[in-house]
Amino acid sequence: MGAACSSRGKGLLSATPALKRPDAVKIVCLDLEGVLVPEIWIDFAELTGIDALKATTRDIADYDELMRMRLETLDAHGLGLPDIERVIDRMSPLEGAAEFLRDLRADYQLVILSDTFYEFARPLMAQLDWPTLFCHTLNTDDSGRITGYQLRLADHKRAAVEAFRQLNFQVVAAGDSYNDTAMLGAANQGILFSAPDNVIAEFPQFPVTNDYQHLRALIDDAFSRA
Ligand SMILES: [Mg+2]
Repeated sequence: MGAACSSRGKGLLSATPALKRPDAVKIVCLDLEGVLVPEIWIDFAELTGIDALKATTRDIADYDELMRMRLETLDAHGLGLPDIERVIDRMSPLEGAAEFLRDLRADYQLVILSDTFYEFARPLMAQLDWPTLFCHTLNTDDSGRITGYQLRLADHKRAAVEAFRQLNFQVVAAGDSYNDTAMLGAANQGILFSAPDNVIAEFPQFPVTNDYQHLRALIDDAFSRA
């Protein structure tokens, strides 16, 4: 009995290609705001006329400092989640983003790694046909006042890319800002998309592009070399 099991086991082992390390599967990790959709806080700032809310990770590299400033500003103006949702409901993905993602997802796996919040992103995700999104959550009270935020994991973009590589994915990542550079560095290839001059100057190791067609060409090229 024992011998039969052992023999059957051996047969399975030798016949199971899954035990050989398969070729890495290709996964694209993209930032959201500034890459696929507009900067949500900037649109909100323009509608309400609150200039302080125009600051992004491009201006204040410390994300916690930026978020504390945003939440204090919202509170000072008596603005809660329903006000923000009304703005986001009227926003659209950047021109060409939906088509770019649709074509990309036909050839590669895709995960969006963002420092936004599920509560903000939902209307835009619907317009992008619900791609996988890893981001954070907001805390609100019964009146809709935002009382705080919950980072799912510090430095989660980099951690996700490193974990994907551990899972034998080849990763190409693209983003536009300071909070993307760690994930770009952790990927097999990082790409800056529509990045401001200061980020481009500080991270000259990453190729730069401003349009989806060229981004797609860079992604294809990176995977062909990986
Ligand atoms: Mg961004």
